[in-house]
Amino acid sequence: MEPSNSKIAFFSTQPYDKTFFNKYNEGFGFQLNFFETQLNPQTVALIEECEIVCVFVNDIVNETVINQLAEKKVKIIALRCAGFNNVDLEAAKKHEIKVCRVPAYSPQAVAEHAMAMILTLNRKTHKAYNRVREQNFSLNGLLGFDLFGKTIGIIGTGNIGKAFSKIALGFGCKVLAYDIVESEEMKKDGVSFVGLEEIFKSSDIISLHCPLNEQTKHVINTTSISFMKDSVMIINTSRGGLIETSSVIEGLKEGKIGYLGIDVYEQEEKLFFRDLSADIIQDDAIQRLMSFPNVLVTAHQAFFTNEALTQIALVTFNNIKSLLTRNDIENKSALLV
Ligand code: NAD
Repeated sequence: MEPSNSKIAFFSTQPYDKTFFNKYNEGFGFQLNFFETQLNPQTVALIEECEIVCVFVNDIVNETVINQLAEKKVKIIALRCAGFNNVDLEAAKKHEIKVCRVPAYSPQAVAEHAMAMILTLNRKTHKAYNRVREQNFSLNGLLGFDLFGKTIGIIGTGNIGKAFSKIALGFGCKVLAYDIVESEEMKKDGVSFVGLEEIFKSSDIISLHCPLNEQTKHVINTTSISFMKDSVMIINTSRGGLIETSSVIEGLKEGKIGYLGIDVYEQEEKLFFRDLSADIIQDDAIQRLMSFPNVLVTAHQAFFTNEALTQIALVTFNNIKSLLTRNDIENKSALLV
């Protein structure tokens, strides 16, 4: 297959996806077919004479969908994100469908958003912004704490966790970390690697940066919350499934959890990336979460910077070109199957 003639079917596309992929396609010459809808068993039918599909975080790429893609003779599934928990890699392997991803498009974008959430929850700038616009210049209710000297626990010290740890150290925080692979580079920077339980017990702020898998699912649950310091702050910019939502709601109601910042949510595929302002939301858990004054929800926007979208477009196109021309990708972490 000649790369220049190849058609790519994009699912879950937003206006900004079209802008960035169209812009960077100039150097590649693929035929781009954008669908706003999510990929799922009902929408596979949209794919016509196309060997490449490009998907995002909430597209459903389970065994059923992969069987359908194989029938449609799809050869490549290109994820335009880092996480791949939504793809059944075994099913893809069975059908000899290649699966690639963008392993590290801008770790700083996500790490900086995690810090933005911490600063917002702590210093309540979102509330101050609204307050002064109504000519209310009182400070009551806006009391924060110094971040300097506080202990931040990081779970998952890959690209994003490392970038986040540098930011936390820059603020003068003590940084504890847990990962299945310890980073010598981070240890040299002054980070202490400890067990998971120690992270829960000793951290004033816990920030999640590990992938969602069988070991990490619901790592924040009733038991782990019970180990935590009173008034702990929990930040999740990784994947919604890392947090058991009912447990954090209980923790917030009891006052055990003092602050919660989430950019991801377990049931987000039914909500995020669309305007539902005129709809009746059926998800009671997200409504309960949003009703707490000490909870900040952003809709999976941590990656959303100019630099990240540029990298996502370039790396996705290069991955596809590389698979089409030599059935391989030089950066091994980009090739999942
Ligand atoms: P990465 O692969 O560089 O790092 C992941 C780290 O997690 C690795 O160091 C790995 O050893 C560690 N890990 C794996 N299993 C673990 C376990 N059981 N316990 C503790 N640590 C474990 O990934 P990354 O680029 O740093 O991204 C991390 C996650 O962030 C992704 O999986 C993705 O889900 C999420 N993400 C979110 C956004 C967003 O916009 N909110 C954007 C990009 C990535």
